[in-house]
Amino acid sequence: MSKYWSPSIQSLVPYTPGEQPQVEGLIKLNTNENPYPPAPGVARALRDFETDRLRLYPDPESAQLKQALARNTGLECDQIFVGNGSDEVLALTFMALLRQDKPLLLPETTYSFYNVYIDLYGIQARHVPLTDDFRIDLSQYRQPNGGIIFANPNAPTGISVPLDDIRSLLESTPDSVVVVDEAYVDFGAESATALVNEYPNLLVTQTFSKSRSLAGLRIGCAFGHKDLIEALERVKNSFNSYPLDMLAEAAAIASLEDEAYFNDCIERVIATRQWTTEALNRLGFEVLPSHTNFVFAAHANLTGAELMAYLRENKILVRHFTKPGIENHLRISIGTDAEMRALIDCLKQHPQMAD
Ligand code: PMP
Repeated sequence: MSKYWSPSIQSLVPYTPGEQPQVEGLIKLNTNENPYPPAPGVARALRDFETDRLRLYPDPESAQLKQALARNTGLECDQIFVGNGSDEVLALTFMALLRQDKPLLLPETTYSFYNVYIDLYGIQARHVPLTDDFRIDLSQYRQPNGGIIFANPNAPTGISVPLDDIRSLLESTPDSVVVVDEAYVDFGAESATALVNEYPNLLVTQTFSKSRSLAGLRIGCAFGHKDLIEALERVKNSFNSYPLDMLAEAAAIASLEDEAYFNDCIERVIATRQWTTEALNRLGFEVLPSHTNFVFAAHANLTGAELMAYLRENKILVRHFTKPGIENHLRISIGTDAEMRALIDCLKQHPQMAD
């Protein structure tokens, strides 16, 4: 802290995405990365990339990636925005669309990064509690105008809301901007991109970090009515935010070209999630129904902090939140089958586990 800092920075609580350890030999189940490599075509695209091109600036429009996303979604290029990870896309969304006169509505328990932007931009916000069974009840988000943001599936709970509920929300709030963060949607939830052509107030954000295994390259996108996309482009261009770099764009396009590999990875993650959930249940955990590449689980006899420390001692990293209401849950990313077996075996060794 320094007297030279602007006031909004002084009260800022930095977002902590979770440990990225530099030591070898840890089983890393704490930041929802994909355990499988990106599509083989990504390696080829990077290997064959003509490095001479790197002396030029990248295409500010990322036109080729937008065209690939347009083919993939059936949307037009002017309904698509791309940025350096969905965190950047969200940052620009908060700046361009969610600073309204009315309070922004968002779940009390959700991706904590939203609150960083709320604080940074001095946005008024109303945090809506989850239901007792940790669901987002969209009937509580109806407001005549303003902004609404939620993650679907939600994080860290992993629970998704049905598309019909999103449709009802959009029907009842035509003058509010509704942002649906679909970072995890590919792992079994229904995407609201299907509604983009019907509702001009809907913006959907997605990422290549999770289902496409490209967290290391920072690629995110948004889909919405062209007027919403134009707002994002305007903010991005006036800040001179960087477009995607050339390697990220080439990798993203290659990834979109291999849907068979993509579907195969998703199926593997879902199958592993299924048996892991059952194994955790047998050990006395309550596991929320997940449509993501992680599970959110609490044990009957042990606190979240105790469990996290025990696993950490045994070289397994998981995520624990101190927020009241979820302080006894662990968020456990779905790794390979071998990693999840190691997790379950380690938990079984704990003296207070059922099984
Ligand atoms: N939204 C949610 C709900 C997330 O959990 C994350 C990843 N932590 C992101 C967005 C951002 O992902 P990225 O910036 O890697 O695209």
